[in-house]
Amino acid sequence: MATYNITAVYEYAGEIEADSPEEAEAIFLKDLNDYYSSTESLEIEKLGECVVCGEVDSNASEDFTCDVCAMDKSQESYSWSEMAELTHKKQVEIFGWCGCEEKEHFPYDDCPREGE
Ligand SMILES: [Zn+2]
Ligand SMILES: [Zn+2]
Repeated sequence: MATYNITAVYEYAGEIEADSPEEAEAIFLKDLNDYYSSTESLEIEKLGECVVCGEVDSNASEDFTCDVCAMDKSQESYSWSEMAELTHKKQVEIFGWCGCEEKEHFPYDDCPREGE
């Protein structure tokens, strides 16, 4: 789910029977829905959110990586070429685990294989 910032300007107009301008205003504000005539403008802006943890920053209009996630090395985004160059050693260094731990498949050439 994303977070949206919405600013809308509405136009209300109508004739009100009252004994004073103050009373007219009070009735008008109280029954605003009755006097609704149009939406003048409506802006919906998607707030930028951290692509990793989803934290929303109301000052950001584009998705970003927050400071906390940027500091967490395992959450860094790696290019495909970097991913392709990963080895068991690098994978464990960065992510702290490797797919070979299940001992079902060995994603890297240097994964320790039992019985070899
Ligand atoms: Zn984050
Ligand atoms: Zn491995």
